[in-house]
Amino acid sequence: MIVADNAGFCFGVKRAIKMANDTMDAAGSSVKSLGSLIHNPQVVNSFRERGLEVIADLDDVDPDDTVIIRSHGVGPELKQSATERGLKIVDTTCPFVTKAQQYAARLITDGYKVVMIGDKNHPEVIGVVAHTQNQAIVIDTIAQAEALKFIPRMGVVFQTTHSIGHVQAVVGALLKRGKEVRVFNTLCGATTSMQKTAIELSSEVDAMVIVGGRQSANTAQLAEVCRKKNPRVLQIEAADEIKDDWFRGLTRVGVSAGASTPDEVIAEVVDRITGIGAS
Ligand code: SF4
Repeated sequence: MIVADNAGFCFGVKRAIKMANDTMDAAGSSVKSLGSLIHNPQVVNSFRERGLEVIADLDDVDPDDTVIIRSHGVGPELKQSATERGLKIVDTTCPFVTKAQQYAARLITDGYKVVMIGDKNHPEVIGVVAHTQNQAIVIDTIAQAEALKFIPRMGVVFQTTHSIGHVQAVVGALLKRGKEVRVFNTLCGATTSMQKTAIELSSEVDAMVIVGGRQSANTAQLAEVCRKKNPRVLQIEAADEIKDDWFRGLTRVGVSAGASTPDEVIAEVVDRITGIGAS
């Protein structure tokens, strides 16, 4: 079994968890998280056990609460509204996501129609679109790009965790739909390098196991890019999902994990696969 070097927590997730931990240690009043802090159920549960309540909107906040803004970020109106209510805010938005928000806002100011390549239902994308006064168009496929009406001045940003191959293909289609097309590369360096390592490992092993939350976009992308090199990719959230017969007849297994997967969860998966190999 080979575990990819950079599997697991990225810089943005480590930062969000540290900020949330520090806030919970220091806050005299209750702390609430606007949406799940990160897309990993084990981490969210462990914070919940310590008293961090996940809320859907500011209506669920008491005046003395501290509100944590999650790593995926939120729109400017939400931050503004929290400030106007006098709430204490701890903003754990990943700096890569903040950059994407800033580029999207700048494109609108400069007179471009913004097209974001990403999953329209993902909180990061919803937050970035909110920075364009909700004017951005969100697409995620070549077909959707080809179906767009012609846009004379088009500005393009990407969901940070998308793969470079995917956005290159969709941007290629967008070039035919615009006259001036300005592209900001808002991909996150941590995800890009994690995907590169996992793709290389996928071609050296009989099967790849990708560990991470089912809601985690970067975990899903990791599995998808690995499948292009190796059809035998198993995506799981925890070790107890692993079946003994998955690895029957295989010699080499690779393991990688999404950016929000804790080391303990990866270690449990490694132990479980090692146990099957030894039996
Ligand atoms: S995957 Fe990238 S964008 Fe997302 S939190 Fe980690 S460093 Fe930030």
